[in-house]
Amino acid sequence: MSAYDVIVAGGGSAGLAAALSASRHGARTLLIERHAQLGGAGSNALVHTFCGLFHPNVSQGPRWLNPGIPIEIGQRLMKMSGQTEPDLMGRVYVLRHEPAALAQLALDLCQQEPLLTVQTNASLAAVQRQDDAWQLTINDETVTARAVVDTTGDAAIARCLGSDLWRTASGDRLYRPAYVFAIRGVTGTLDASTRLQVAALLVRAVKAGTLAKAALGASLRSSPQAGEVFISMDLEAGGADWDPLDPAKVTALEQEGKDTTQAIARFLRDQHPAFATSEDPILPVHAGIRESARWLGDHILTAADILSSRRFGDEVALAGWPLEMRETARGPKFRYFDQPEPAGIPARCLRNAAVPRLFFAGRCLSADHEALASVRVMGTCLATGQAAGRMAAKA
Ligand SMILES: Cc1cc2nc3c(=O)[nH]c(=O)nc-3n(C[C@H](O)[C@H](O)[C@H](O)COP(=O)(O)OP(=O)(O)OC[C@H]3O[C@@H](n4cnc5c(N)ncnc54)[C@H](O)[C@@H]3O)c2cc1C
Repeated sequence: MSAYDVIVAGGGSAGLAAALSASRHGARTLLIERHAQLGGAGSNALVHTFCGLFHPNVSQGPRWLNPGIPIEIGQRLMKMSGQTEPDLMGRVYVLRHEPAALAQLALDLCQQEPLLTVQTNASLAAVQRQDDAWQLTINDETVTARAVVDTTGDAAIARCLGSDLWRTASGDRLYRPAYVFAIRGVTGTLDASTRLQVAALLVRAVKAGTLAKAALGASLRSSPQAGEVFISMDLEAGGADWDPLDPAKVTALEQEGKDTTQAIARFLRDQHPAFATSEDPILPVHAGIRESARWLGDHILTAADILSSRRFGDEVALAGWPLEMRETARGPKFRYFDQPEPAGIPARCLRNAAVPRLFFAGRCLSADHEALASVRVMGTCLATGQAAGRMAAKA
């Protein structure tokens, strides 16, 4: 039976940062990821913009918010894509990235750490505490660790351990899932007028019954790679019946996303000159799930904590992204901080005293539904992951 100091479950932004941080603090660490590549939603769901990396006060230009791994990864991504500055979008800075580049960077960074082992195509199936150690079943193998970090996005470990350790919002409030795809071979620049033309074409096609309703909310963003455009569609996914933990519902969502993608790609090739010679769409490995289950920690971060820029004595990371509520497929509703100052995220949101030597970070940390609308973004996930990895190594 293999034994580690720390096992990190889930190789998204939070898990990557947690594994790097734990191993750099001297812990023999195993990072497991159920898909073939690291990066989580930022690679497998084709999410292509890092939010939450920069200070919310944009009046002084872009300033990195959290030290350490978030800056390291942000700077490496900028170097890889040739960007010298992040993009100012209204009142926030964002950093565009190429999903495949993130997956490659994640692997490269992990391979440089002598104490870190990565297993992809490795799914966490069961967890139990045995005396002083954690026993995890990964695929068919049992592995032990002194400390564990849950960065599965879905609080998979809490769901194994007990119903009093996690919660989820009701189906009608859950942030809507989305399907993101890429199209290459697009000519010209994706300026505001092209976006408007495409939006108008899509509206007409939906009204005429040529395209499914999901195409209505499709939004276009250019990639750092020339000629590539990302298209994101928020999906209603069954309204109040949506359940991201139900495989049948997720399968139906994937199918709707794939069908609508193919139809939009064909339609744009026929109807808009910029897409006339575009290639077949690049599909994500899976649809994008914005919200599922979260841990209940020793503190539940609230919207009031975030909006009032509350600071904590035991804070381990900073949140700088506004509340980006996506309860309907009609696009986001933003609620900005009362003053442009970051909010603290306390260590108590990354642990539960009833479950010693177990930590959680990223999208499944301990926050209420509204606060999650801020802290779920990838820049903040890097920061909470980094903190959880350090806490696990020290435990
Ligand atoms: C459509 C969409 C658009 C978004 N847009 C943005 C944006 O523009 N900017 C931004 O910053 N954020 C955005 N987000 C939010 C952001 O992508 C996620 O909240 C963030 O990636 C969460 O990071 P994470 O590491 O907590 O989880 P994830 O990135 O979801 O990673 C969790 C990983 O755990 C793995 N895993 C799960 N269960 C197991 C298991 N049992 N065994 C092994 N591995 C497991 C998963 O395969 C996954 O790779 C968006 C999200 C969506 C869905």
